[in-house]
Amino acid sequence: MGQIVGIDLGTTNSVIGVIEAGRPIIIANSEGSRTTPSIVGFTKDKEIVIGDQARRQLVLNPKNTFYNLKRFIGSDWDELDDTSISVPYNVKANNNGSVRVLSPNTEREYAPEELVSSLIRKLINDAETYLGDTIDSAVITVPAYFNESQRQATKDSAILAGIKVDRILNEPTAAALAYGFEKSSSNNVLVFDLGGGTFDVSLLKISNGVFDVKATCGDTQLGGNNFDSKIVDWLAEKFLAKYDIDLRRDRQALQRLTEAAEKAKCELSGLPKTRISLPFITTSNDGPLHIEETLDRNIFESLSQDLLDRLLEPVQIALDDSGWNAEDIDEVVLVGGSTRIPMVQQLVKTLVPNEPCQSVNPDEVVAIGAAIQSGIISGDLQDLLLNDVTPLSLGLETIGGLMKVLIPRNTPIPVRQSDVFSTSEANQSSVVVQVRQGERPLASENKSLGKFRLSGIPPAPRGIPQVQVAFDIDANGLLEVSATDRTTGRKQTVTISGGSNLNEQEINSIIEEAKTKANEDRIKRSVIDRKNSALTLIAQAERRLRDASLEFGPYGAERQQRAVELAIEDVEEYIDDDPQELEISVSALQEALFGLNRKFAAEKKTDNNPLQSIKNTFGSLKDELFSDEYWDDDPWDNQINRNYRNSRYGNSRDDDPWDNDYFL
Ligand code: AMP
Repeated sequence: MGQIVGIDLGTTNSVIGVIEAGRPIIIANSEGSRTTPSIVGFTKDKEIVIGDQARRQLVLNPKNTFYNLKRFIGSDWDELDDTSISVPYNVKANNNGSVRVLSPNTEREYAPEELVSSLIRKLINDAETYLGDTIDSAVITVPAYFNESQRQATKDSAILAGIKVDRILNEPTAAALAYGFEKSSSNNVLVFDLGGGTFDVSLLKISNGVFDVKATCGDTQLGGNNFDSKIVDWLAEKFLAKYDIDLRRDRQALQRLTEAAEKAKCELSGLPKTRISLPFITTSNDGPLHIEETLDRNIFESLSQDLLDRLLEPVQIALDDSGWNAEDIDEVVLVGGSTRIPMVQQLVKTLVPNEPCQSVNPDEVVAIGAAIQSGIISGDLQDLLLNDVTPLSLGLETIGGLMKVLIPRNTPIPVRQSDVFSTSEANQSSVVVQVRQGERPLASENKSLGKFRLSGIPPAPRGIPQVQVAFDIDANGLLEVSATDRTTGRKQTVTISGGSNLNEQEINSIIEEAKTKANEDRIKRSVIDRKNSALTLIAQAERRLRDASLEFGPYGAERQQRAVELAIEDVEEYIDDDPQELEISVSALQEALFGLNRKFAAEKKTDNNPLQSIKNTFGSLKDELFSDEYWDDDPWDNQINRNYRNSRYGNSRDDDPWDNDYFL
């Protein structure tokens, strides 16, 4: 059985962790970094690039480089705010109102889940390389405030990446697991998690390995990006006023502005002011135009006031729901890169006066928590218990368009709740169960998670039939709804998955496509591998020819030398475009080399070569003919020829692949 890992799938960066020797660790990616940018792109050659490689092409290839995908995952187009869709690449709604991302390079549109799955695959591949073992499943974290669709879409991404999801874990809960791991004291903890794209606040009671989530709240469209956008707008408005050019309409300029804004924001966490310098940002009739501005913390803070206000409300709601006061909080854990912003830290202190805990690394704490949860599931870690809650109220739409809540927000999960409903008209033979999630009294204002019909209800006056509707939420926060007609016993059950951006058919077709792509990639790779080994063989053959002319003189092995030369010409002819002929010509070259090598062997046995006997007689000549100067200019020469040299002059012949293959 393969391993199980924990993945923090962040808006900005993603991190993967595992339990090793009973402790959670972070696994570095193939580039050696502990965090991987959550960015996926396509090159001109339609090759997919992920993480740092994708990040590098952000400015030059903005239309084909996709970031902030987490804000789109599982969301409908009309749920997105302006900040989320003001990205330099094309996003649109498909016919169902789901978000699709367009890549001009591949001439295709993608569901965000599909791109996120490539990111998950990279994390898994790199971790498998590190572990030297396969990975079958993962614990994946999501913002606590993600609704059912967003959770389901995250799960779909993992399925597309070929991974089973053992648990969808709320990010602040994961952070609390990391914080409380191996702590024996009893604490009430507030986790304040402000990342690149989302905001969560959770309140937990941690006591001797038992983690009880009391309440959670948040905003899935609020994060560090919103702060970046404030600076982008500030710069763009100044430029507009000065030159009458709106840089936000130019993709490359917008990407450069966004990067400069993020950099300035991060610098302002440590400095009172920073310079923003963007030479050649655009051109006008009068020539190139540049940006040179100084941004100080006061301006940045005044630009961001409304964002600070948006952070306040979820904290207050979570406190109210938990029944705790600010004074009941023993510890504040700051999670997410954006909690490094001084005004955010100030705000937290005004809410809870305690000094925030600094013992956890805000960039890695969520993945550490996910790894701990994976250890609980695998049994590697014992005596830890996690009791989470459902973040948003779940209910159904009743007549008149009202929301009837069955499971209120912050109910501990897993949970099952049911209620009895009836018909609104006489002789009504079916009822529609429309499942919704959210806090608004009007059903239409809450997220629709799907609907189904229970039919076959026997004729009866209005209000007589009894239909029992039950909601079941499992430990992952995933919901199953059933409706049963109490008279007939007829039952209809659905697992809520309709909220995802992809239906089952689409998921299957993407998995199929991924398989075909994997096949295509394998074929492409084997063509490249074959070409590379043909080139290596040519290089070896050319060196062997050089050796032969040194060893035998120009005519000593003429037939064999000529055969090798002709075979090299054939390989060169077919190397680029005829794989079948290439294979044949490579075999021919191997055979010709074999012939030449036999000649070497025969010569060695009979020792009848005049040059050879001179060499044997005057051992010093070898040093001249095979001087290091001659061998050292090409590493390949060094390798092959030193081996050969060794074989000629009495050292082990075992290092020489040719000798091994052909002379034993
Ligand atoms: P995360 O999702 O936790 O990786 O957080 C990423 C967000 O944190 C991005 O919006 C970053 O710009 C932001 N961030 C990282 N470092 C800093 C910093 N020193 N000051 C302000 N924001 C930061």
